[in-house]
Amino acid sequence: MTDPFDLEHIWHPYTSMLNPLPTFKVKRAYGATIELEDGRTLVDGMSSWWCAIHGYNHPELNQAVSDQLQNMAHIMFGGLTHEPAIELGKLLLKIMPPSLDKIFYADSGSVAVEVALKMAVQYWSSKKETALNQPEKTNFITTRSGYHGDTWNAMSVCDPVTGMHQIFGTSLPNRIFVPAPQSRFDGEWNPQDIHELKQQIEQHHHRIAALIIEPIVQGAGGMRFYHPEYLRQAKALCEQYNILLIFDEIATGFGRTGKMFAWEHAQVEPDIMCIGKGLTGGYMTLSATLTTKDVAETISRGEAGVFMHGPTFMANPLACAVALRSTQLLLEQGWQANIQRIEKILTEQLTDLAQLEHVADVRVLGAIGVVELITNVDMKTLQQQFVERGIWVRPFGKLIYVMPPYVITDDELHYLLAQMSEVVKNMQGANSNVLA
Ligand SMILES: *Cc1c(COP(=O)(O)O)cnc(C)c1O
Repeated sequence: MTDPFDLEHIWHPYTSMLNPLPTFKVKRAYGATIELEDGRTLVDGMSSWWCAIHGYNHPELNQAVSDQLQNMAHIMFGGLTHEPAIELGKLLLKIMPPSLDKIFYADSGSVAVEVALKMAVQYWSSKKETALNQPEKTNFITTRSGYHGDTWNAMSVCDPVTGMHQIFGTSLPNRIFVPAPQSRFDGEWNPQDIHELKQQIEQHHHRIAALIIEPIVQGAGGMRFYHPEYLRQAKALCEQYNILLIFDEIATGFGRTGKMFAWEHAQVEPDIMCIGKGLTGGYMTLSATLTTKDVAETISRGEAGVFMHGPTFMANPLACAVALRSTQLLLEQGWQANIQRIEKILTEQLTDLAQLEHVADVRVLGAIGVVELITNVDMKTLQQQFVERGIWVRPFGKLIYVMPPYVITDDELHYLLAQMSEVVKNMQGANSNVLA
């Protein structure tokens, strides 16, 4: 079933070239359905890693791309500008934290994070010229279990254990890590939770440019949902000790957690925010790093006088055009009620799995459903079983999770979760008598 050329020559994410996992060849996709080359259809539980919020092959998004294609697919952003970038910018500023005012378009989530980190360092180095002398503020503090992308500096702030720190060793800059927030989103706030962050900041603030964190939901680092109070207290510490706050909303953005962006759960505004993934509805790669007037103007008053970044495909017009239409669609369609519909079904159908002996935890927030097992899953076997049952779910580590496209129907969602639950119940070594 795996294509022989693909198997021999093409890398897939995090796979071995000696012993690659099987890949399933996709013919087309529409709505929440993925159609394989062999004719089988799968109900999609992944939204292609948070991206395809309106599902696949959406007529209005297709239209936005083909309309823009008639004008130009791409044009350099140095010295030139265009309507899609401007109109998208206007719309983004309406739905972003009010203090964010300047937009840097980049080409992937990881690059948006690189840009955010560079902004923070350039901000403090520009401050050097002014009264506030902060020459050493070039490092970053972050929590464990975070994920911020695969490029060099993004990697350096990912969880040092589940991330890639051992492999890359001393080639990675050393960041300051504190424990991941422990108080659950839906539980009691434990004041101890902020203790280590407070201590590390008190001790090292003179060399910290920024705190970077995924607000409320830690995604690829463990699919953990934590208490909003953590963000409120983190923000207060940042203000007290002159540290910029960076929110990485690349996964959480565009309604996924039940708010348009996850910062709204805590009502805490960052100095810099990264968005990506769902921005174009999964059509093209595009990201953005937004910041405040203060950060942008301080950087611009610095020695360089400019922000030092400018990717070739910055603000690609096709990507901006489809991002604009995707965001408009979201706002037009009563997204909040729709996410609540999905959240309700996820809760109803997944909660009981928590009673199984081999299941450590079940949690749901917005359109994200997570089943955490006691031990790591065998991805290859499980993937095969899911496909045989007509669903697309890609587990990792101890986690089996879904974040379906928002267009998924009740019937499709019930089917997806019923099949997924059956696989979880039947897992090898599982005690099948626990659930009736
Ligand atoms: C996916 C992700 C990134 C990286 O985005 P890419 O487009 O894969 O480079 C960064 N941060 C978070 C929170 C993500 O989920």
